[in-house]
Amino acid sequence: MKVINSLLAICLFTLPAFAQPTHFECGTPPGADMERLEANLEAISSLEARSGVQYLPVTLTLLANDDGTGLISEDDALDGFCRLNENFEDLGIQFYMEGGLRYVLDSDFYLINSPNSQNPINLKIPNTINIFVSEIVTQGSQGGGCFGILGFYSPSSDYVAIDKCTVNDQSFALAHELGHFFSLPHTFLGWENLNYDGSEPTPEFVNGIRVEHADESNCAIAADRICDTPPDYNFGLGSPGCNYSGNAVDPAGNPVDPDEMNFMGYFFNCPSHTFSPIQGDIIHADIASRTFVNGSPNMATVNGAANLTFPIGGEITPDNNVTLTWDEVEGATNYLIEINRLASFSPGFLIQRTVTNTNSLQLSDLLTDTNYHWRVRPFNDTHTCTDYSEGESFKTGEVVSVVEIEGVESFNIYPNPSSGAEEILLEVNTSETLEAAIELYNIQGKLIRQFNHQFNGSSNLARIKTATLAQGTYIITIQTENGSVHDRLLINR
Ligand SMILES: [Zn+2]
Repeated sequence: MKVINSLLAICLFTLPAFAQPTHFECGTPPGADMERLEANLEAISSLEARSGVQYLPVTLTLLANDDGTGLISEDDALDGFCRLNENFEDLGIQFYMEGGLRYVLDSDFYLINSPNSQNPINLKIPNTINIFVSEIVTQGSQGGGCFGILGFYSPSSDYVAIDKCTVNDQSFALAHELGHFFSLPHTFLGWENLNYDGSEPTPEFVNGIRVEHADESNCAIAADRICDTPPDYNFGLGSPGCNYSGNAVDPAGNPVDPDEMNFMGYFFNCPSHTFSPIQGDIIHADIASRTFVNGSPNMATVNGAANLTFPIGGEITPDNNVTLTWDEVEGATNYLIEINRLASFSPGFLIQRTVTNTNSLQLSDLLTDTNYHWRVRPFNDTHTCTDYSEGESFKTGEVVSVVEIEGVESFNIYPNPSSGAEEILLEVNTSETLEAAIELYNIQGKLIRQFNHQFNGSSNLARIKTATLAQGTYIITIQTENGSVHDRLLINR
């Protein structure tokens, strides 16, 4: 059993439900990458015909503070990665996590964009698409949080940063930032931080960038320079819906009709989004201009949910050290395990989340005599569109202590664990003659066998038939007039 990334996010405090962002705001500097865009537009005509799916390596880095606080919940990260792949499926592009989920617990990096933080460029893995999931600080504010800038692409450092509250809630945000990574500007380029004002004539330039006309007459030199994305004057900013009806006109007075569902606009409340055909070509031209590591993406789909096998149904475990087991899931190479105090898996009662690459997880030093609930989500480096299993539960046993009683010097069980032998032997050394009742209980506390035995003042052997006992843990008790001793017997068939 090996726990990869050996991260145990132990959360003793309630994780507040992330506040819904009022709107998505992207911090990619407008127009910073126009040379690359022009080069990609040029290269479209010489693109080779594509066939099959192109797999691109992503380094998905989850940032947290030194003590692990602030980490995104892995299921949000997996959901966000799933959405990203769904959003690029039509383009024949799929992303895979080169090296799996990557954790960086370093407070120096945690708050992205903060003047006190280090630049994540120092954490980049070369020749992969670097995505950092953390908290992004908006200039003028003290810390992170779900407001202001929630994602950006850095053209100078060539990485994408995405706020942890946006990865999952705003299904389009990560795809939007990847669009920037592949050199796409906003469809409303020039209008960043501006609101269209219908009471004023529409200008020919905003922020030094030519305003696009509705008749495509200047589409190759205006705004995003992409002719199959109609003019958009940042109509999506703050828009609660997906249908613009503001009657805006272009500088010539012609009505404009934006493409609300374009990934590179700001209408994030649309049910789905798309890239235009030319945007898709630009993305492919950009990919062709880059060098990526030659990894081995997992192309298998993860089929089905995890079937939890032990411990389940509220069964009582022998003590407070438990090894969780479940059946392997077809296509899965990793499992995310959540352990919670409540059956509702409420975030406030999270005990830990752990990722493993095997179908078992060893837990130690749980509280004794305590109920726990657990569930498992399978995934692989490419396919993360999966769900948790139904939850299962167990109760940790009392830690059984061998009570010293007068006259009993030692007490051993052979063999233990027993792999289905006909009987087991109790070896009891006594210093005096003792009348004893020997009892065998199952882990639920039900009496299974009982007989009386007299121990003489020396080494004694007593036999217990075990041929018909089911696999599991049992407690053996020896009761004497001086007190009782217990020990645990494991039948492992
Ligand atoms: Zn943007």
